Amino acid sequence: MISRMNEIQILVVEDEPSLAEVVSLYLKRAGYQVQVAADGKQAMTILEKQIPDFIILDLMLPEIDGLSLTRWLRDRSNVPIIMVTARREEIDRIAGLEMGADDYVVKPFSPQELVSRVRAVLRRTGREQAGAESERDLTFEDIFISPSTRAVTVRESSIELTAKEFDLLYLLARHPKQVFTRDQLLDRVWGGAEYIDPGTVTVHIRRLREKLELDPSSPTQLITVWGVGYKFEP
Ligand code: CA
Repeated sequence: MISRMNEIQILVVEDEPSLAEVVSLYLKRAGYQVQVAADGKQAMTILEKQIPDFIILDLMLPEIDGLSLTRWLRDRSNVPIIMVTARREEIDRIAGLEMGADDYVVKPFSPQELVSRVRAVLRRTGREQAGAESERDLTFEDIFISPSTRAVTVRESSIELTAKEFDLLYLLARHPKQVFTRDQLLDRVWGGAEYIDPGTVTVHIRRLREKLELDPSSPTQLITVWGVGYKFEP
């Protein structure tokens, strides 16, 4: 699978180092390139040189605040902006949207939620092709799967999968609740290769369960449909 998003550069303007770090981490996992500015002045210095493809902007910032930065930016560029605000900053949030921010998240927010919002805004503004159906990221309650980076996050921690384990999981997760027979899975994940023991699927499902399930012996996500095959239950 080819990454489509690698060239998308996101500037994260956030003065809380731990928040900046976790947001950057999730965005990188989702395949974006990330730069961080720790205050409004630093952000402006970066933006004077080059406008990125996307900006995640904390409203309360030292030096130059998020609203002033938004106003300054909108005179120069229509780069998509998602504002990060605290609950009490509702007035500022409205002002920010009126000034041309594209969306906002309220602290505390889930980093995966932010990634989904970024993607939605990118799609809406035509910067990311919506047609990449077969390569879209999948976000479920406990699992996040990104085909562009082949990253999988389970209950907020990233897990390592082999290439085939990833392909198998991605195929099942792309069609939640749909039952696949072993032959279909062999064909679509191992397709084309010479004879492969159908037991291979069983082995890979077992390994995936060990990595994904809270209790691999009574799986709740990678379900065996007796006599038929397997399905993914989100
Ligand atoms: Ca802040």
